[in-house]
Amino acid sequence: MMAFLKLLARNRLAAFGGILLLALVLLALITPLLPLLEPNATNPANRLQPPLSDGHWLGTDQLGRDILSRLLWGLRVSLAVGIAASLVAALIGSTIGLVAGYFGGRTDNTLMRGIDMLMAFPYILLALAIVAVLGPGLMNALYAIAIVNIPFFARNIRGATVSIAHREFVDAARLSGKGDLRILVSEILPNVLPVIVITLSTTVGWMILETAGLSFLGLGAQPPQADLGSMLGEGRRMIINAPHVATLPGLAIFLLVMSINLLGDGVRDALDPRLKSGALSRPAPMTRLRRRQHVKVDDVVRVPGQASALLEVDDLHTDFEVGRETYRAVNGVSFSLKPNECLGLVGESGSGKSVTALSLLGLVASPPGVISGGHVHFQGRDLLDLGIRELRRVRGNQVAYVFQDPLSTLHPLIKVGDQLIEALRTHQPLSRQAAHQRAVELLGQVRIPNPERRASQYPHELSGGMRQRVGIAMALANDPQLIIADEPTTALDVTVQAQILTLLKRLREAQGTSVLFITHDFGVVSQVCDRVAVMYAGRIVEVGPTQELLANPRHPYTRRLIDCVPRLGDPDHEPAAIPGLPPAANALPSGCAFADRCDLVEPRCREGEIALIASDGERQVRCIKPLANRTTTGAAHA
Ligand code: ADP
Ligand code: MG
Repeated sequence: MMAFLKLLARNRLAAFGGILLLALVLLALITPLLPLLEPNATNPANRLQPPLSDGHWLGTDQLGRDILSRLLWGLRVSLAVGIAASLVAALIGSTIGLVAGYFGGRTDNTLMRGIDMLMAFPYILLALAIVAVLGPGLMNALYAIAIVNIPFFARNIRGATVSIAHREFVDAARLSGKGDLRILVSEILPNVLPVIVITLSTTVGWMILETAGLSFLGLGAQPPQADLGSMLGEGRRMIINAPHVATLPGLAIFLLVMSINLLGDGVRDALDPRLKSGALSRPAPMTRLRRRQHVKVDDVVRVPGQASALLEVDDLHTDFEVGRETYRAVNGVSFSLKPNECLGLVGESGSGKSVTALSLLGLVASPPGVISGGHVHFQGRDLLDLGIRELRRVRGNQVAYVFQDPLSTLHPLIKVGDQLIEALRTHQPLSRQAAHQRAVELLGQVRIPNPERRASQYPHELSGGMRQRVGIAMALANDPQLIIADEPTTALDVTVQAQILTLLKRLREAQGTSVLFITHDFGVVSQVCDRVAVMYAGRIVEVGPTQELLANPRHPYTRRLIDCVPRLGDPDHEPAAIPGLPPAANALPSGCAFADRCDLVEPRCREGEIALIASDGERQVRCIKPLANRTTTGAAHA
């Protein structure tokens, strides 16, 4: 609820509408308490006084009645009738929609054809016809407005209901023996409630307008009772010599309906779960950079022969600022990557691998993401200091990205060939013809059979492995020096995974590309990576050449991670889960973040920051008591 209000408040127009509406509603509520003149008391001697005249702030109308008083009482009536009509329409319409959508078949047909009949008439005409039958009067106007608005609710709610009526959780509820009524109330209704609220919030304003319309025509509020519509209707006759009599109620209607609609739009946006993540506040084209002073824990430990590093990440910090909390997703990460090297970044889910990778190219959504410190030197330039134009020239060009899920990263409505062409032409001055040729070439390069035909297919016509090949082809399009691959094979089955890994390896050999390979799978790491960095709670806890690190992990966390992996052909090896959970990113402990889960923990582990220290050769470990070599023979992993 708080999150909802916050999201709503962030939308300035909606907040403005909300405040205005609140003010109007409050005003309507306290009207009886205000020292107003009697709204229906006529005083012909005092007719058509202009605003600000004696005793009548807003003047008087043609019968000498106080306009301010009539306006406020009228506002009350209009609000009450509009809201009541909406609620009636929402209740009846939603019930019809729920029942029709849930039961389907003949019930659906019968109910919906009835609704269609209502919809077949232009609906203000239908409202007029209903009032004509029932006779003029405020209550009858209310019924008429409610009836003509039932179809909007019925259709919207039916649509929402149909789409969830056969989902697994409904089947599960049915299996558990719940009856239809209980399923409707406890499973379906909560899920379509947002749709009801949204429909309601976007139709209330409309209904108030319609009520005013009927009153304007003399079919709603009957004299002497005032509502905004009837006041407008009466004032219209003297619009020339006493314009205020009609203008003031007109203005009131305008403000009321506008405030409701602004708020309604805001409610709709805020209730859309897809926007909850903060998407309402448009993300910046690059991650915000606000360098703060961080205590640097690690010295720059240079790996031998590293003078010619392609990528050098130094003490990178990326935070998420959500409300008053700061989540330190990346908390001082340093590593480097040589040309033609493949560095694996391994760690449990949530350890900060993706955020690290995204930070390199300023791709972390801001808000809530902030890069709060560090440097990312790529070919000597600090990528974090580049402007958006320069950064765009690097993204997808010198540094390319392969994402985990190839289906969600390809545009479903554009042919894969055209997507490749777009990637090419963004960075290279190619004609369409030449780009097409190159696209087909790329598809061949990633070993897609019959590339010419595949180029003219849509993503859904390709298998998962093929889509990921397209993703890789796209990454290769502009001959990048560095490819960042974020779990590129996690969504694929093992055979396809093996093919993709072989492909990446071959491409690396052929083109000399460097790869930052993110994965949680040690099997994959051992196949493709030269070196491995193990991440835990936003920090690298161990780095080293792949084979050495896998054979002799130094950090207790690394060892336990490796022990979690089931070994083929070794049924005696029991994969051991690591007890406990990683620390929350907004409450990192001092000292070693792994201390709580480590079976070798001692008091020293929780004191002060623990630096990454060189252990032997190219290896570094963030542990005060690194493990010794494994002594057992045959402990090498397949
Ligand atoms: P992984 O290692 O699985 O790729 P991530 O890099 O995606 O992990 O996430 C690292 C941490 O950052 C996690 O604790 C996650 O909860 C947090 N995080 C990621 N995105 C957001 C966000 N938009 N808002 C708040 N926290 C986030
Ligand atoms: Mg990830």
